[in-house]
Amino acid sequence: RSSESDASDQPPTKKLAGDVGVVVEHYNARPDVGVRQRLDSPIIGLKNFNNWVKSVLITRFAHPALVSSPSSKISGGDRKGRGALSSGKILDMGCGKGGDLSKWSKARIKEYMGVDIAAKSIDQARDRWRTMRGAHFDATFETLDCYTESLSSAFPPPKLAQPFDVVSMQFCMHYAFETVQKARIMLENVSRWLRPGGIFVGTIPNSDQLLERLDALPEDAEDLSFGNSVYRIRFDERENKPIFGHKYWFFLQDAVENVPEYIVRWQNFIEMAKEYGLQLKYKEEFHAVFEEHQEHPEFGPLMVRMKVVEQNGESSMNEDQWEAANIYIAFAFEKIA
Ligand code: SAM
Repeated sequence: RSSESDASDQPPTKKLAGDVGVVVEHYNARPDVGVRQRLDSPIIGLKNFNNWVKSVLITRFAHPALVSSPSSKISGGDRKGRGALSSGKILDMGCGKGGDLSKWSKARIKEYMGVDIAAKSIDQARDRWRTMRGAHFDATFETLDCYTESLSSAFPPPKLAQPFDVVSMQFCMHYAFETVQKARIMLENVSRWLRPGGIFVGTIPNSDQLLERLDALPEDAEDLSFGNSVYRIRFDERENKPIFGHKYWFFLQDAVENVPEYIVRWQNFIEMAKEYGLQLKYKEEFHAVFEEHQEHPEFGPLMVRMKVVEQNGESSMNEDQWEAANIYIAFAFEKIA
């Protein structure tokens, strides 16, 4: 028997109050549509692009030994002299329905631990892993509010005895910035069981851009929102800009239905991360990730395989999807001993 825990072992889902309750209900309510239905999504090009960016991030930083071209300017950083990084044990915090499982499988990991606050998503992630063809890694899935509870409350001591090589937080870290306490518990969970030299990768909205666009709205605007046919971001007020708990409402077509999210002040975040031994290695907007890697011998062809571009080189995103893609930034940190 693998180390996976049984869904029936879990306590019944609690109804959570406040914004976090809205977030959980939203993600629990979204059905895990099959591959065929996913292909019909009106924003399939954008979804494919986001998946490609995550693949680049995982391959380049979390498993640089897999980047095949020795002649490429792109490397996983300065750790060549220390030999290839072994990405044996992965923590996927806010793993959702396990959308990154196949990326980690391709990175030939040994062990995957996925946690998320949405119990139904965790069940779907576990099912996805069980039915994955060619997944030669062990996996454990647990429901956990990673921003108020310690990882050790979901995983009893032996599970955390060996530290993680990589911690990944994809499109989910910004929910922690509701309060300073939540952001600190999140960072403690990221760092405490990450080995020295281990990597923390993630994707979050680009708050600098969001705040600039809020400031650029007409002075007399009553509706403090911006966006296009694919996404919309709406702030409740213009003047009050707290460092934590600066809320906005996010809508993304066929994905996110007006869910409360929080601004992540980048400078504040990297200074806090430093306190937890995490040193910044990489930060780019998604458009820049594209420009940097589109000609790469591995990541270029991967774009065709992942249907970000068609065989004839045409983008599978329309203009609005391409603009929506650049709301996000990708980052990588290294744990310093
Ligand atoms: N990482 C996945 C991916 O890239 O496909 C899912 C991303 S989804 C946009 C955001 C996820 O963050 C949801 O699954 C949600 O339940 C999770 N999340 C939000 N708040 C959380 C918390 N406090 N603890 C754990 N997960 C949380």
